[in-house]
Amino acid sequence: MLKITPYLGILVIIVSVAGLWFPLLGYFLLLVFATLLITSVFRGRWFCGNLCPRGSFNDFWVGQITRNRKIPAILRSFWVRVPLFLLMMGFMGYRLLSTQGLINQIGMVFVIMCLATTTIALLAGASISPRTWCTFCPMGTVQNLIGGHKYQLQVEGSKCIECNKCEKSCPMQLDVHTSTIKPDCIKCGRCITACPTKALSFKA
Ligand code: SF4
Ligand code: SF4
Ligand code: SF4
Repeated sequence: MLKITPYLGILVIIVSVAGLWFPLLGYFLLLVFATLLITSVFRGRWFCGNLCPRGSFNDFWVGQITRNRKIPAILRSFWVRVPLFLLMMGFMGYRLLSTQGLINQIGMVFVIMCLATTTIALLAGASISPRTWCTFCPMGTVQNLIGGHKYQLQVEGSKCIECNKCEKSCPMQLDVHTSTIKPDCIKCGRCITACPTKALSFKA
């Protein structure tokens, strides 16, 4: 199974910082958008837990300085997430229209978007929990809506000893063994590794 690595997080720094001088780096975001949209059809938020550079940045880099607090429930609410998605997409659309099709300026719109969201992710992750941004990230919300019911984690009830090690290992702070459908599960597999009785597995 593909696992997220610390090295992917370097791409976030390259696009957010080097992109200010080399705006074409911003087009990397298009590759990210396309990949997550395709994978979400089959595996929901799998991209977030296995391939997203910012997910790696949050896990391994922000994870070094986080205060590891509970993520506020309001941030999971679609009353927050959908308006945020519309706001960010609307703002990006407005900025793209004002570039008049100039290649470098379009790239810079993506770079600024990456820099702004990385800054929010860093502040939220450091002050609360590494994956705080990922609870309301517009791209996570899109994947939730497209394929959140796909590739669900199964709990074999007869094997579960209610030790809660799965919950403690979950970067998204989900109710791992008590809820049946978890549209915000990022399929990282950390709960499976943590479970002492092998009660957890994924079902396509
Ligand atoms: S929620 Fe957003 S930032 Fe977080 S891993 Fe998914 S796509 Fe990346
Ligand atoms: S439920 Fe398991 S696989 Fe899903 S995000 Fe939490 S730890 Fe990762
Ligand atoms: S870690 Fe395994 S045994 Fe423990 S509560 Fe979770 S599913 Fe049950």
